[in-house]
Amino acid sequence: MNPLSLDQPWGRGFQAVHRHAFADDHTLPDGLWLPRGLGRSYGDVCVNDGGLLLHTFRRDRLIAFDATSGVIECEAGASLADIAEVALRQGWFLPVTPGTRFVTLGGAIANDVHGKNHLSAGTFGRFVLSMTLRRGDGALQLKPGDTLFAATIGGLGLTGLIERARIQLLRVAGNGITQQTRLFGRGDPSASVDEFIALESASNDWPYTVGWIDTMHHRLRGVFFRGKHTVGEAPWSQPVAAKVSLPVDMPSSLLRPWSARAFNGAYYRSQSMKTASETTLPLWQFFYPLDAVGAWNRGYGKRGFVQYQFVVPRVDAADTVAQILTHLRTSNVASYLAVIKTFGERRSPGLLSFPMPGVTVALDIPAPGERELRALDRADAMVADAGGRVYPAKDSRMSNAMFKRFFPQWQSLEALRDPNVSSSFWRRVAKGNDE
Ligand SMILES: Cc1cc2nc3c(=O)[nH]c(=O)nc-3n(C[C@H](O)[C@H](O)[C@H](O)COP(=O)(O)OP(=O)(O)OC[C@H]3O[C@@H](n4cnc5c(N)ncnc54)[C@H](O)[C@@H]3O)c2cc1C
Repeated sequence: MNPLSLDQPWGRGFQAVHRHAFADDHTLPDGLWLPRGLGRSYGDVCVNDGGLLLHTFRRDRLIAFDATSGVIECEAGASLADIAEVALRQGWFLPVTPGTRFVTLGGAIANDVHGKNHLSAGTFGRFVLSMTLRRGDGALQLKPGDTLFAATIGGLGLTGLIERARIQLLRVAGNGITQQTRLFGRGDPSASVDEFIALESASNDWPYTVGWIDTMHHRLRGVFFRGKHTVGEAPWSQPVAAKVSLPVDMPSSLLRPWSARAFNGAYYRSQSMKTASETTLPLWQFFYPLDAVGAWNRGYGKRGFVQYQFVVPRVDAADTVAQILTHLRTSNVASYLAVIKTFGERRSPGLLSFPMPGVTVALDIPAPGERELRALDRADAMVADAGGRVYPAKDSRMSNAMFKRFFPQWQSLEALRDPNVSSSFWRRVAKGNDE
């Protein structure tokens, strides 16, 4: 099975049946369709089982770039990789970037993605100056303040096809990143999360912060990373392609809690042995370490994986996060990779944007079975009780009842949805009967 199958999301795990078309001209397809970028969403927001996927990646032209103001206009199928490469030559970079550069401009807007700089920058949607949206009733020019603008940012593709957008880039010193690392945790889980929050709070001069955490260890230990732009010594251009690619699917028999514990322990030990706590890296390496391995999603085997990302409000965040992670660990839910971040106060412009002020954790979990799914359902309830939410871009399993608790404003998006656009995700979570 192709790891980048057009009929699967990035987390694989299930196979949909689609008709496919390219968004090449100014007509929209008949029947139920869904815009699709590069399919880097882990779950079914980029899947439209039984319907049509309208692929945008051929519409990737750069339309205008003002190197004085840093305003760039592109077709929505342009990738963040291409935009960054053009921008960096002139001393500009993406204002916000997710952990892979292989996402489209349209996909970044439709999920209102966040990066390691949420504390100082907020979400990607804050930097969208205008966009053109095509829907059944024609092409519309949208700007901040318009109702459909807010519905389209983080609108999961449901309001129509974003054809092009203008965004404000960020002026940077060069193509390098100064990175500092520090070990944290090893206390009780709540104290470890508190320690992470304190490290972030003491990083005002460092726009980028993130923590890797070993959720399989009873003492929740981690590595804190912070970075800032600097003049780099490496060539400015990005690596041409992944240095290595996973040629086969990992056998599922190896993806067990014991191997997750071994993997996390080995990573923690490798970090604790590094003597240099400050280093300068090429920017690509800092932001996109996973892009160095092509098709790394095959590492989770044919049955795929889910990424479970939640955010809980700042008040009592350390206790709540610790309780959820302890619940997952004691339920024997294996997680190979987990990261922790704080979301700041900058308001997301999207109607259904995921980020809110608080602490967010993302865990990669190989092909959950019944037991793991039950444990995740319980975690959903803990997140909801705390006033938090789960990230739709990563989801393929939350119940419609939970979705409506996480996003009570969902009906406003439903009212603005183009009636011809739908996704497997939306049919799953917005349906009438709560279950
Ligand atoms: C390794 C990795 C790291 C990641 N790190 C982060 C992270 O740090 N932060 C974060 O927020 N996310 C992260 N993500 C998730 C990813 O950034 C988002 O899922 C992103 O939206 C994917 O963009 P895409 O172009 O692949 O869109 P797709 O996954 O194909 O589609 C995503 C959504 O956008 C809609 N869409 C796409 N194009 C258009 C368009 N032109 N018009 C209207 N709607 C459109 C689709 O309908 C769908 O609902 C990560 C993903 C990976 C694989």
